Amino acid sequence: MSFSKLGLSDPIVQAVAAAGYTAPTSIQQQAIPAALTGADLLAAAQTGTGKTASFVLPILQRLSQGQTQRKKRVRALILTPTRELALQIEQSIQRYGAALPLTAMAMVGGVDLQPQRQKLVDGIDILVATPGRLLDMYHRRAVHFDELEVLVLDEADRMLDMGFIDDINEIVDRLPESRQSLLFSATLSNKVRALARSAMVEPVEISI
Ligand code: AMP
Repeated sequence: MSFSKLGLSDPIVQAVAAAGYTAPTSIQQQAIPAALTGADLLAAAQTGTGKTASFVLPILQRLSQGQTQRKKRVRALILTPTRELALQIEQSIQRYGAALPLTAMAMVGGVDLQPQRQKLVDGIDILVATPGRLLDMYHRRAVHFDELEVLVLDEADRMLDMGFIDDINEIVDRLPESRQSLLFSATLSNKVRALARSAMVEPVEISI
């Protein structure tokens, strides 16, 4: 199995080759073609399985296709439990998307607000955030969701364990209903499934 067989475009296949990956991992083989169809996805996968690329690569492909003019508003939102994960995901986006005209930012606590607000005004395509910081910026009207196309809930079980359920629900309630939603979690507990039911429409379920 090769990355080009998953339906990814040449610049993205070249970027994963440049990252030194020779073959997609099991979760990537299942999640990437499913996500590229535009379907919602409920995926059970642990950290270390290559799950980050499973959602980052389809997002890069979707946002770089058929784009005639840069939009000024966030088109993909990735929610993740910790600052460290948000920064790692942002790095992955920069690495895989180096050849693409897309911008990304990690919105996490402990970083000055003003430069982040300015970047959002200039236009960010992909926002990676922890739920609390994102809501704070939303309430300050620094971020808008009306152009949002894709939502990722990364490490959903950890976000629930950390008590983010109300924040997540408030965010999801404000997103366009026509979006694609992708949920990744180490375990598919009842609480995770309840979140999936409220945030997704007939998701394709995969597990490794
Ligand atoms: P993740 O589960 O997304 O945190 O990824 C775990 C590690 O695997 C990261 O260091 C990735 O750079 C690496 N990785 C992801 N996909 C592949 C792949 N297809 N081949 C080799 N390494 C990979």
